[in-house]
Amino acid sequence: MKCQRCNKSAIIYQKYSNSHLCKSHFIEDVERKIKRDIRKFKMVEKGDRIAVALSGGKDSIALLYILHKIFHNRPDIELMAITIDEGIQGYREHTLSHAIDLTNELGIPHTIRSFQDAFGITLDELTKQKENAACTLCGVLRKNLLNKTARELGADKLATGHNLDDEAQTILMNFMRGDVDRIKRMIPGIRQPGLVMRIKPLRSIPEKEVALYGIVNGLPVSIDECPYAGEALRNEIREIINNYEVRHPGTKYSLLGGFDTICHELQPLGSSIVTCEKCGEPSSEKLCKTCRLLGKDFKKK
Ligand SMILES: [Zn+2]
Ligand SMILES: [Zn+2]
Repeated sequence: MKCQRCNKSAIIYQKYSNSHLCKSHFIEDVERKIKRDIRKFKMVEKGDRIAVALSGGKDSIALLYILHKIFHNRPDIELMAITIDEGIQGYREHTLSHAIDLTNELGIPHTIRSFQDAFGITLDELTKQKENAACTLCGVLRKNLLNKTARELGADKLATGHNLDDEAQTILMNFMRGDVDRIKRMIPGIRQPGLVMRIKPLRSIPEKEVALYGIVNGLPVSIDECPYAGEALRNEIREIINNYEVRHPGTKYSLLGGFDTICHELQPLGSSIVTCEKCGEPSSEKLCKTCRLLGKDFKKK
């Protein structure tokens, strides 16, 4: 098949837009959507210091690469990367080395923090002690440490590599649970006390296209999967949405677009955020989730 914008051969067929695209027009399409969203949601503003959550997986690798490509000529925009080493043996070492290689290559300052140093325990050890699913523990602790580190680095924004598939899944899960608080926290551009503002520049890019973008740009695309199985509900929702997308191309964009429409009608979050009594991080209850999970024996380091 030929690219529909030029005569070169196509490397992708986007069923949702009925387009065949060659390598350079595919790259152009991905970057156009990202720049559009950055502008539309004011994700990056003049003078911003942007911390990028760089796990070293394909999404965050592509995110850092693209943000550098877009902003490296802007002296007022500063990029930095943060990697959290959760302590997952046999998995984290590989993604960590991809993260280090890319930041070296692009000349971006890189901060690496570990669960071991921050909480005195690795994820592997913690899962042996706790009933909670590994991904719940990991998610809570990672968010806490990312936010804390970004704040300490003086970042104005914290960019994460969530793609269209991630966002569509989270939206559907939150709707199913009627979790209004979480729905409100997903509103782009929302400010919450003590929390560095989150931005998701890849929210309009399907997961497969993020992977393809990485491959055609020669970025390390890790084939390793985290040994922990993921959230059970999310895994089912992913399958439902993917099946639906095959029969009804554009479903993922519809979920995202529907959410953005509803956002306009939502009242902003009340001042439900307080400071955790133990660690001082922002929390919706007296003790933050991190401190509740780590329990009373946990000593702040
Ligand atoms: Zn083309
Ligand atoms: Zn706490």
